[in-house]
Amino acid sequence: MQQAVQQKIILRLAVPVPLRRLFDYLPPEGLDPGELAPGQRLWVPFAGRKLLAVLVDIVQQSPLAELKSALELVDKAVLFHRNSRKLLAWIADYYQAPIGEVYAAALPTALRKGKPADHWAEQWLQLSTEGKGLPESALARAPKQQALLQLLLKEGTQSRTRLKAQGHSATVVRALQERGLVEWIAGPTVPPPLPEAEPSPAPQLNNEQQQVLDSVDCSHFSATLLEGTTGSGKTEIYLRLMERVLAEGRQALLLVPEIGLTPQTLRRIAARFPEYSIAALHSGLAEGERAQSWLAAVAGQADIVIGTRSVIMTPLQRLGVVMVDEEHDASFKQQDGVRYSARDLAVVLARNANVPVLLGSATPSLETLHNALSGRYQHLHMRQRAGDARPPQIHVVPTLREPLEEGFSPQALRHIGDTLARGEQVLVFINRRGFAPALTCDDCGWLADCPHCSSKLTMHRRQRQLRCHHCDYCRPLVDSCPQCHSRSISALGGGTERSEELLTRRFADYPVIRVDRDTTASKQALDRLLALARDGEPCLLLGTQMLAKGHHLPRVTLVVIQDADGGLFSADFRAPERTGQLLEQVAGRAGRGSLSGRVLVQTRFPEHPLLQMLLEKGYGTFARQLLRDRALAQLPPISAMALVRAECEEPAWAEEFLQNARMFMQSLVPPSPQLQYLGPVPALLERKSGRFRFYLQITAQNRGLLQSLLVRVCAWAEGNRNRRLRWAVDMDAQEL
Ligand code: ADP
Ligand code: ZN
Ligand code: ZN
Repeated sequence: MQQAVQQKIILRLAVPVPLRRLFDYLPPEGLDPGELAPGQRLWVPFAGRKLLAVLVDIVQQSPLAELKSALELVDKAVLFHRNSRKLLAWIADYYQAPIGEVYAAALPTALRKGKPADHWAEQWLQLSTEGKGLPESALARAPKQQALLQLLLKEGTQSRTRLKAQGHSATVVRALQERGLVEWIAGPTVPPPLPEAEPSPAPQLNNEQQQVLDSVDCSHFSATLLEGTTGSGKTEIYLRLMERVLAEGRQALLLVPEIGLTPQTLRRIAARFPEYSIAALHSGLAEGERAQSWLAAVAGQADIVIGTRSVIMTPLQRLGVVMVDEEHDASFKQQDGVRYSARDLAVVLARNANVPVLLGSATPSLETLHNALSGRYQHLHMRQRAGDARPPQIHVVPTLREPLEEGFSPQALRHIGDTLARGEQVLVFINRRGFAPALTCDDCGWLADCPHCSSKLTMHRRQRQLRCHHCDYCRPLVDSCPQCHSRSISALGGGTERSEELLTRRFADYPVIRVDRDTTASKQALDRLLALARDGEPCLLLGTQMLAKGHHLPRVTLVVIQDADGGLFSADFRAPERTGQLLEQVAGRAGRGSLSGRVLVQTRFPEHPLLQMLLEKGYGTFARQLLRDRALAQLPPISAMALVRAECEEPAWAEEFLQNARMFMQSLVPPSPQLQYLGPVPALLERKSGRFRFYLQITAQNRGLLQSLLVRVCAWAEGNRNRRLRWAVDMDAQEL
């Protein structure tokens, strides 16, 4: 007798819990299983809670006998298509991250909370049958209604966003609705509109730019490092690649550093592509705007998707090219939760989608440079500045035994004065914000420490506060020593606020514009501050590394680097690389227009070999030397490196945990020249927000061996029952 085989349907879901596996459920009761598809969101019961999960796979068998039913399907929308699920699985694998947390990290907050996708569906206004029958001359006595009617007759259905932008008010729409002439219908989500930009045509490419474009084939995967001097026209390359794939009906993805996505950048792209729709995704967006932009990208309604780090996880079905601007920037590495590198994922994403990826920088990271020099990536150069700008002249200003005024040498102050007097602009780079990085008592030696971190409090004079730059701690400024009540208190060292005071006094006839995190707290503030400088009047810009990134200020002819020494003597092996990148980028702000530029670099160590190489030979030679040093020391990128991190209020617990982790790993893979252990050692910032931080470092010549070891140590560490201890694995860690 034949028995009908009852095919079981089992849902394999990514549930946001810190466990490195998927979970099986039965379909929600009463739901037609035909409505289910991988990539959808469902509510599931988990350990007494209700969690939002993502359906990853539908299977017929489960190793578990007793399965719970999922609670409910959130909506029909498939948010993660196959290629996107493949990328997220890769992330979970490579970074040893719990898959449920990877999906959660990929979702915008509003969608993670379970809001249905059609909440942001765009409303489209269309003519009813009756409306379609009207002549254009109808409604002559109501001119506003007539204008809207004519638009719909001529150009068809219109989105609510577009109607608003064109000034057709809701009242007019309602009037037509009441006459039964129009109706709203729901369509796919479109991105929120960007600020208006005057359309601007493309410049004629120079030879170098043309060669670069000719070398990138958009029909299949390739990875390219574009090593192009600051101002050589890399952005123009990104725009041309966008143009190419847009013309084929595909989407372009551009990643920018955290503080690189300025309204200026967006305007430049919007001005080039007025007929395309652009979704910008960055941390400055409100929750709803972010969900809307993301859904528009997923629905394919956005042609250009541009954003910071996490944009890399946005599912794009028509992807045509991936580009990473300032690929060396540290903000592409996520430093907590799922600790991925968006720059590295850009390459994985492009390979999965079989499209090209372009990594652009004037100061490539050693990782990318190594990949290019070893032939794994195509290596393209742009050595000339675009247009008629010339490279700046660099001068070293020794500061030892000089009579400095708040950190400025007489020579620097004289050059600043001369430049302003010529009607040009000056940029002063200071790598610390606030008034002074420490406050001390001259009588008893008391220092203002953060009670929660192993760091000093920074004095902010204008707000009369002492603030910790590593946690949120803040206290009022004191006039007398809390320890001995002496009134001789001194501020040690300098910061942007202190320099601003001096420069405002010394150059009282000119505006002094301070750009740091304190003056640019609001979304548009940076743009507003820089607008002053873009006007072209003589002025003095001073600020932190915010000023080093991507801004194009053609009237800046003098750049002063107040103190180049910060990174030369750090315990972090990446410090020289970062210092080199920062100095080269800051210097690159000088002379970007038709006026020639000059850079003054103040240092106490003009003879330092690394600094000399950087200033005389440029970043390219400097970086290649650093790569040779890393090879000798067996450090990344020559070897692979991962950290196991632990932090706890009780330092001994964190240390012990890592000591055990090391013993466990050593029992699997004993130390050898191919795989080495270091630690546990305290992190560079040993205590942060009240917790002591330690790490264990593992370097390996073989990435596969390291990976398999990390899988085992994660399984081991998941057994940790100490709730007050936090641990994490940080593959390709960037911070010690
Ligand atoms: P990068 O991104 O490499 O720093 P940009 O793309 O911002 O450089 O270009 C620097 C300046 O040169 C911009 O003002 C840009 O408009 C201009 N520019 C770029 N390419 C050309 C070109 N082919 N001809 C003239 N000007 C150009
Ligand atoms: Zn004192
Ligand atoms: Zn602190």
